[in-house]
Amino acid sequence: MLGLCLCLAGRVVTPHTMLGYLPHRGGSPLLCLWVLLLPLVSLQSPNRHRSPDQGVEDRPKLLLVSFDGFRWDYIYRVPTPNFRSIMEEGVKVEYVENAYITKTFPNHYSLVTGLFAESHGIVANEMYDPALNLSFSMETDSIYDSRWWDEAVPLWVSIQKAGGRSGAAMWPGSDVEIHGMFPTQYLQYNASVSFEARVRKVVEWFSAPEGEAVDFAVLYWEEPDESGHRLGPQSPLMDEVIAGIDEKLGFLLNELKKAGLYEKVNLIVTSDHGMAQLSPEKIIELDEYVDRDLYTWVDKSPVVGILPKEGKLDEVYGSLVDANPNMAAYKRENIPEHFHYRHNIRIMPILLEAKEGWTIMQNRTGHFMLGNHGYDNTIRNMQPVFVARGPAFRQNYLKTSMRSVDLYPLMCHILSIHPLPNNGSLQFIQDLLSSEPTPSTATPPHQTIAPKVSGYSYAPVIGSFIGVVMVLGFLVVYIVLVTVKQRPVLKHRSWEMSQPLLQEDLHL
Ligand SMILES: [Zn+2]
Repeated sequence: MLGLCLCLAGRVVTPHTMLGYLPHRGGSPLLCLWVLLLPLVSLQSPNRHRSPDQGVEDRPKLLLVSFDGFRWDYIYRVPTPNFRSIMEEGVKVEYVENAYITKTFPNHYSLVTGLFAESHGIVANEMYDPALNLSFSMETDSIYDSRWWDEAVPLWVSIQKAGGRSGAAMWPGSDVEIHGMFPTQYLQYNASVSFEARVRKVVEWFSAPEGEAVDFAVLYWEEPDESGHRLGPQSPLMDEVIAGIDEKLGFLLNELKKAGLYEKVNLIVTSDHGMAQLSPEKIIELDEYVDRDLYTWVDKSPVVGILPKEGKLDEVYGSLVDANPNMAAYKRENIPEHFHYRHNIRIMPILLEAKEGWTIMQNRTGHFMLGNHGYDNTIRNMQPVFVARGPAFRQNYLKTSMRSVDLYPLMCHILSIHPLPNNGSLQFIQDLLSSEPTPSTATPPHQTIAPKVSGYSYAPVIGSFIGVVMVLGFLVVYIVLVTVKQRPVLKHRSWEMSQPLLQEDLHL
């Protein structure tokens, strides 16, 4: 019986082959029932699109790259042939509205969670959590405390929980244990490791043998952010820095080609934020307006968290609210709604926000930079580059705008991963995807989040209904045939009765 079932499973089952096993042809009734139910078994398999056992060649691959502080318009400033080749072979989005505040840690976590900072909990590069009574600083080991990150689940954790594998080369937060997991493969953060060494690791992870290769990887590089801070984005010296980033991108493309990954791996190249030009003439000195003993300064210009000493909230706020025309002061509950930056206790009771180009300091003895970011995320100079290519993307397609939180559901779609609740929507950027779905994402792009609903709720109901109808039909045929055999006196008449039924069955 088992052997027959396995044999049948390997061939096309048609109504005619089913009839070949009907009892009047000498087949087993149980075998017939199994054959009739066979389509339902495959219809309801929960791992139809994604399985740990799926061949590595068939599984979608995705590499997300961030060049820190690469402003959207840098690619137009000097020849950038490698960015342009991705644009021509894939897609480009001109304006990306990133997450507020436009700083490094909040935005890198938004890219891999689809959440605004108030929801994923990494609200700044420097934070204070009054419930934990802990401080977070990207310049100390405090970032390795999982409690800062556990308010959200990054994509690499979701992939691994779904049976996949991931890799991370220096992406902020990727060397921290989050929800009990590290990426399957990752590099401990070390700024002295070259971009080329990071790329070679990522290519090695994608090229590993079946069962060991990663499905998704993130790759981070510190430039052109560092140069942008030091030189200011308007400096002519930035031209060379930008050209150097394009060369690094060229190195990555070449390594992917050499490894035979270029046509298989979907590649997204973006950034966390842009960069604004500052001026030593545009400095706001808080000491002119409020006694520094009345508050604790959290995070840095141009968006500064102010934690007033106990009972001093109104006094500090009153001193700052109309202090300088180039600085807005908000109580947390009055931060403009479109920033999505209120609902987290790590956001300080008072938020100061400088106008673009202005720097907030306590006095001029503080460290001054010629370039900075963190300002309003609707300011163009705060927005990052975005290009992508690969089997999942359209070719030579330019889109005007998107939000960075929408990238998470898009990446989940490409990887056939169930997206966790997020602030993004695939609907807004589904036009970036090629019309032909990738081999292992059989559902059309507009159903990315829905497939988990439609694929796992309606299909079983419809399948079960069809199955019941087919089984009942089979039983009717079987009962009629048994009746014919067991009632010889009615043989002639029963044969006449059963004949049209069998003929009808043949035309199913
Ligand atoms: Zn950054």
